[in-house]
Amino acid sequence: MSTSKIAGRALGFDANLALVKRALAKFPHVKLGHLPTPLEPMDRLSEALGGPRIWVKRDDCTGLSSGGNKTRKLEFLMADARKQGADTIITQGATQSNHARQTAAASARLGMGCHILLEDRTGSNDPQYNFNGNVLLDRLHGAMIAKRAAGLDMNAEMATLAEILRQSGKKPYLIPGGGSNRIGALGYVNCAAELTQQAAQMNLKIDALVHATGSTGTQAGLVAGLSALASDIYLLGIGVRAPQEQQESAVYDLACKTMDYLGMGIAVARNRVRANCDYVGPGYGLPTEGMKNALKLLARLEGLLLDPVYSGKGMDGLIDLVRTGHFDGMKNIVFLHTGGSAALFGYPEIFDLPGYQN
Ligand SMILES: *Cc1c(COP(=O)(O)O)cnc(C)c1O
Repeated sequence: MSTSKIAGRALGFDANLALVKRALAKFPHVKLGHLPTPLEPMDRLSEALGGPRIWVKRDDCTGLSSGGNKTRKLEFLMADARKQGADTIITQGATQSNHARQTAAASARLGMGCHILLEDRTGSNDPQYNFNGNVLLDRLHGAMIAKRAAGLDMNAEMATLAEILRQSGKKPYLIPGGGSNRIGALGYVNCAAELTQQAAQMNLKIDALVHATGSTGTQAGLVAGLSALASDIYLLGIGVRAPQEQQESAVYDLACKTMDYLGMGIAVARNRVRANCDYVGPGYGLPTEGMKNALKLLARLEGLLLDPVYSGKGMDGLIDLVRTGHFDGMKNIVFLHTGGSAALFGYPEIFDLPGYQN
C-alpha cells in the first residue's frame, strides 16, 4: 500500500478523477467510439429477479461497426500504431471474434490495411458460424482473413505473417488477441473514470460492477482504473474460458502492468481481482442452457441483445448470483454490456425458437 494511495483517498473523488484523466492524457489516443456510453436501469429485469436494482452500462453501443468493448481499447492501440508509423494492422481471435471485427473497422476508418488470423477453437463446420456474423463484417470492412488450427501459438503465427508483410515493404503493427495488453487496457481505465463520473452526476451509488471476462484487458483496465480512483465498487468478472485461478492471475498480472504504465505510483491490491468461472459450461464459445435462458430473458424483458460467447454467459452468472444471494445487501448493480450481438448471426440455430404462426 503506497502512501500516495492513502493520499489519493484523502483527496476525494473529483481530485482522483482529475489525476486519472491527467495520467490518461499522456498517451496517444484516437477517438473511435461514441462515448460516454449510456448507463440505464433495467427495471423489468430487476423486478423479475426481485433483488437489487440492475443497471446496464451500454458498451455494446460504442458505435464502431455495431459496437463492443474492443473499441475503447482500440482508441489507444490504433493511436500507438499510428505513432509507430504503421500502415497495416495484424490481430487474431476466435472465428466469431468481436475484437477482430472492431479492429477491421478501426483499420478501415484510419486507412490502414488489416490482416486477421482466426483460430478455429470450436471445430465447427457450420457455414453460418464460419461466414456469417462477425466474419461477414470482417470481410465487409476489407480485412484479409486467414484460418489457423486450434492450439497453435497465435502470437508466433502473427509474427510470421508480420515478417512476410515487412518483406513486401509494409509496416505492420501487432495487436494481441482481444487487444489485451497494457495499452489496450487503458481503454478500460478510461471506462472506470467515465462510469464513476456518470454515476456521480446521477447521484447513483454503484455497489457492484459485473461483466464477462476473457482475454483480461477489460477487467484489468477496470481494476487499475477503480484502484486509481480509490473506488470501493465490488468488481466481478464472469469467466468465459479459463478456470478461476488462471483467469484471476492473468487479470492481476495485466492490471499491475497497466497501473505501472499509468505511472500514478499506486499499487493494485490482489483482492480487487475476482473472477467467477462457474458459467463457462463445456468451453469457450460453446452454448450453455443458462446462457440461452439469460439471452432470451434480456431480449424479452428489456429489448436488449446479448451474445452467446461473452455477455450471455456474463448475464447468466449475474442472474444466478442475484438469485443465490451473492449480492445481498447491495442496492445497485451495473452489468457492463461488452457487446457481441453480431455473433448471434453466427449461431442462428441454437435458440430453438418457434416458427411463423398462421
Ligand atoms: C472480448 C469480449 C469480452 C471480454 O473482454 P476481455 O477484455 O477480452 O476480457 C467480453 N464481451 C465481448 C462481447 C467481447 O467481445
